[in-house]
Amino acid sequence: MNDDAANENQILLCSHCFADEGLRVDATRHGLEQPDECPQCKSTEGRKLTKSHIEALAWYFFVSGTTVRSEYGGYPRIQFNEHHYGETSISPSAWLKNDIKLIEESAKIGFFHYGPRFWMFGEIEPLKALQDPATRQPILERILNEYPVVALAKDTKFYRLRVGPTEPADPLEYDSPPVALAGNGRLDSAGFPVMYGSQDIDVCIHECHASADDDIFVATFKTQRDLRLLDLTHVLQEDVTEFESLDLALHMLFLARSHSYEICRAIAQYACQAGFDGIIYPSYFSLIRTGGHPFETVMGMSVRRFHPQANQYANAYTIQNFALFGRPLESGLVSVECINRLIITQVGYQGHFGPVTY
Ligand SMILES: [Zn+2]
Repeated sequence: MNDDAANENQILLCSHCFADEGLRVDATRHGLEQPDECPQCKSTEGRKLTKSHIEALAWYFFVSGTTVRSEYGGYPRIQFNEHHYGETSISPSAWLKNDIKLIEESAKIGFFHYGPRFWMFGEIEPLKALQDPATRQPILERILNEYPVVALAKDTKFYRLRVGPTEPADPLEYDSPPVALAGNGRLDSAGFPVMYGSQDIDVCIHECHASADDDIFVATFKTQRDLRLLDLTHVLQEDVTEFESLDLALHMLFLARSHSYEICRAIAQYACQAGFDGIIYPSYFSLIRTGGHPFETVMGMSVRRFHPQANQYANAYTIQNFALFGRPLESGLVSVECINRLIITQVGYQGHFGPVTY
């Protein structure tokens, strides 16, 4: 074993070293089970941590754990790096002070209050233009021109889930809601119904806010001809700064809460007028469902832009949801192949901890 490899595998701390309960629990989850004595606290029971474990733990607890969401985007209140080693400037709770010292000394890093760049909370020109109906049109045109068209082949299978349908065995229950009832979702609007589908059942469950108490049914659909979809999950290759990025604008738009629906609906209607059958869009829950890489900057955004295989990266972390315009079962665009009852036995929330003050 060479020196570098030996250093990488060297045990520096363990989960029992920490006083903060959240940090102990997170360290137990990520550390190695190993009978040796901890070089710091001498425990044999604690899960052991190498330098890379400690860096990952620091990222989860202090960076992800202090990330705040803004209307669009989000950013961490705390960051760390090796340049701030010995100059940590945050003010944590009393019980966390010694834990932080242990982390700093073993990983040779320092923590500091992070001043986010403005684009991280939505100061992005195309996103601002989309928010004002008066300046929206040119951006809608760019979206249609710059995002790729994807053909969903005939006979492609997908799912749609319904909570408490009146007649669960009736296929018509699984079409888009009647025109008069449209307008509650991210992409449908008054007089413009949309069928939401996914190839991932778990995403369907999250997207429709189903719980273990609900009576849930899932229809398996097949497309009856090739469908032409606008793919908004594609990562655009752009030669501009974050402040001008259409890619980041759309990424943030689909991760934003219901205040963003009006814009998403305008995109859907515009795509429909241009002759598309529907759009593929990133799931609001895709980041929760797939987790994320521990060292991406904020909500996948910088990695999304600069990763050498940007598209493969984004695809691995995006579940493709689609929305088909109108009432596709009624119009013969899709057919129901099967209907099942769905029993939820476990709602999969996983969490990690963060500090309360800093
Ligand atoms: Zn220890």
